[in-house]
Amino acid sequence: MKKRFDLSAIPPGINVRSTIKKCLDFMNAHPDEPTPYLVMDKDRIARKARLIGRNIRRAEVYYAVKANTHPEILAMLHGMGLGFEIASGGELRGLLELGVPPEKIISSNPMKTEKFIAEAASAGVTHFSFDSRDEIDKLARLHPSCGVYIRLTVPNEGSEWPLSRKFGVETEEALALLIYAREKGIRPLGITFHVGSQCTNPYNWDMALSKAARLWEMARDAGLELSILNLGGGYPIRYTKDVAEIETIERRVDEQLARLFPPDIRIFIEPGRGMVGDAGIFVTSVHGTACRIDENWMYVDVGVFNGLMEGVGGIRYTWLSESSGPVTGQMKEWTLSGPSCDSFDVIDKGVRLPHPEVGDRMLVLGCGAYTTCYASEFNGFSIPKTILL
Ligand SMILES: *Cc1c(COP(=O)(O)O)cnc(C)c1O
Repeated sequence: MKKRFDLSAIPPGINVRSTIKKCLDFMNAHPDEPTPYLVMDKDRIARKARLIGRNIRRAEVYYAVKANTHPEILAMLHGMGLGFEIASGGELRGLLELGVPPEKIISSNPMKTEKFIAEAASAGVTHFSFDSRDEIDKLARLHPSCGVYIRLTVPNEGSEWPLSRKFGVETEEALALLIYAREKGIRPLGITFHVGSQCTNPYNWDMALSKAARLWEMARDAGLELSILNLGGGYPIRYTKDVAEIETIERRVDEQLARLFPPDIRIFIEPGRGMVGDAGIFVTSVHGTACRIDENWMYVDVGVFNGLMEGVGGIRYTWLSESSGPVTGQMKEWTLSGPSCDSFDVIDKGVRLPHPEVGDRMLVLGCGAYTTCYASEFNGFSIPKTILL
């Protein structure tokens, strides 16, 4: 008997029903499509692209390309007028091939390779972040006409993917670096920060904005005329827990901006996960189960190495199973493992799912960001192909 996903069994709170429906329609129409594959819902991405930035006055949106680099997604966002945030020559070339003009491209990676700086300079990209003297020295040598914004450290508590340890400087150092840029002939343009990816604590933006506002005033007192505040990324999506709505976050940010900053400055935002994350669903198959001592193991064909790397960092996905039946349908707690032989390939533990049969399929929700672009072909398991619907 052919198994079916039961839409009525989808837990309450899941807000991507139309995407799940699209995915199931595709699966029914293409039952022989080999798993694993990633379904991306173009309508949901378009909806997000229209939503993000709408509630922040003067926001200019630069999609963080690293979240999902599929050329068709980039082309769609380009067609909708969005800009792009990049870190590498590879990302730059991908955008240039699509005809994205350089003024629609910025790079907020504070530590860029010399090779990339040279490439960005010859392509005409002019806006960069930095947080060190080394970076200014490189830019002064390779791209003296560019402008820079300083990466400030801000609290990342409540973000499931903190970034503040790797980049950013404190306020005093930030001011000194902006002044250093000016001395070296590089235009100091503004300030940036990143509240952490999958930021589930809206208060992080408040703290970041007041810290940035203090630096803005100090810069003004030092004779620097800043014009850009770049709010970075961090908008969350729903994995297994409810998160703040983007509208709620943006309204709050907009109020703070009006209160703390001059009214005529440029505001950049750089959403990655928030733009594409909940538009993606992995379709995967179970290829075995085992009980080891007292732990139930389930092995599926997408794992840590070929798509679900963020599981290791603590992202907990929602899994939907088509498994049912009196014996095999019994609910248990599972340790979910990918297909490789490496013991690092454990996606999650304690996930309640029915006992499957070999070959049963599962959907993994919220897989549009930081999955296929993170993946490798380790152990000979291919990177899942993307199907845009
Ligand atoms: C990765 C990154 C982003 C996107 O972050 P999300 O949390 O996915 O929105 C934005 N800006 C910079 C500088 C980044 O490195």
